[in-house]
Amino acid sequence: MPPIGAKPFRVGPVAENYCEEFTMMHRIAILGMLALSLLLPSFNGYGQTKTLKPGFNFFSKDQDIQLGREAAAQVEREIPVLNNPEMERWLNELAKPLIAQPEAGDYPYTFKWVNDPNINAFALPGGPIYMNTGLLLHSDNEGQVVGVLGHEIGHVALRHGTNQVSRANLFTLPAMIGAAALGDRGILGQLSQLGVGLGLNGVLMKYSRGAETQSDQLGALLLHRAGYNPIEMANFFEKLQAMSGNRNGVAAWFSSHPNPGNRVQTIQKEILTFDRREYKRDSGQFARMKAMAGKLPPPPAAAKPGQGGQPGAAQVPIPAASTIEAPSTRGRTHSSSSFEVAYPENWQVSKAQQGEAVTIAPSFGQVQLPNGQGALGYGSMFNVRDGNQNQRLEEIAAALEQEVVRANPGLEMTEQPMRITVDGRRAVLYMLAGPGPYQNVKEIVVMAVVERNANQVATAIFVAPERDYNRFEPTFKNMLRTLKVR
Ligand SMILES: [Zn+2]
Repeated sequence: MPPIGAKPFRVGPVAENYCEEFTMMHRIAILGMLALSLLLPSFNGYGQTKTLKPGFNFFSKDQDIQLGREAAAQVEREIPVLNNPEMERWLNELAKPLIAQPEAGDYPYTFKWVNDPNINAFALPGGPIYMNTGLLLHSDNEGQVVGVLGHEIGHVALRHGTNQVSRANLFTLPAMIGAAALGDRGILGQLSQLGVGLGLNGVLMKYSRGAETQSDQLGALLLHRAGYNPIEMANFFEKLQAMSGNRNGVAAWFSSHPNPGNRVQTIQKEILTFDRREYKRDSGQFARMKAMAGKLPPPPAAAKPGQGGQPGAAQVPIPAASTIEAPSTRGRTHSSSSFEVAYPENWQVSKAQQGEAVTIAPSFGQVQLPNGQGALGYGSMFNVRDGNQNQRLEEIAAALEQEVVRANPGLEMTEQPMRITVDGRRAVLYMLAGPGPYQNVKEIVVMAVVERNANQVATAIFVAPERDYNRFEPTFKNMLRTLKVR
């Protein structure tokens, strides 16, 4: 079980510009494809962007939509999508005037926040767009958030994802998707057969520098029409560029959106071609939403060792049973503004960098994995989480359980959720089991979700390898018995 707040994303290599790698034979093949691109919608009627239209593509627009839906389902199992209706509603309000423009291509767009402090955003073919909360936290104003939205919408409308796949698979794709050859596996399944990596940081999300410039240009137009000053988009990217030297969580952005250079000048040049107008649009909600994002609890858990098809690769051997120090029967008490709990004297309390989250564990329980990530092998974690108004405890608990499972692939419920009482409050208890930080040893995870007030819950998570679970269970039960939620 990774500690709360660990980084959920693994950043892949910087995108390649496929075009630069093309042999002459590829170029000839592209010439043959030009007829196809003539059938695709073109973008006319504005300055520099007159030349902006989707590149050649083996996929139909409907196939973009289908592929995007399949990829979204896969990706959402790997990222902590934020469950905050108010922030999501605001994001969708911001996007509305952009996607209403004909140049946005009339795709079924969806917009979601990802609870991740790293600065990043990405789009999938046909409309799903994801924005990290870290991006909101580093924006100076609403126009900058909308600028990134415009840029991502540009990737969808200009079909950069499937254009990349098409260019990378010139010879195999037409046969595959040309006929009605798509079986039950869907487009995603067919493509993975080709070895095309489409998950997080896959080819669908890595754009060439040319694509980046195009998205900037189209994004600038969308902002202009919607009443936002497009220069804010340039300002934001300039800011990211300035941050890129000092590892401020901005690497993820440049991994999928390589800097095309002269970004600001390109956008400024674009603005000169627009009619003059005053940019007045503002929801008035930016400061409040940014503050809300700042108070979000860290994502509940992070990417799991071995995730990405190599189970066990990132795990460590379990210490010999004889070296495992039993939990002391003498207790101490941890007390904060949100909860109080008794714990064994020979365990330590470590606080997360933000929020109320604490880990209380024996020193050997905090595992350092080969990839540098920390994980919890033995011990407990406590936190306070926001639910949504009008959501029942059972619904909040189920959403949290799913978050934990999503962040820890392979973890499964071993018993039906149980209704229990903790500190006189209603609670739901989950028993889960699955791969943990130790090689060849199953990890047992017990999670209690306790009602705190009308829209908050407290969570208590207990972890031990199956081999030693019985030795730790009495301690876990005692901690749950002594837990007081404030
Ligand atoms: Zn981009």
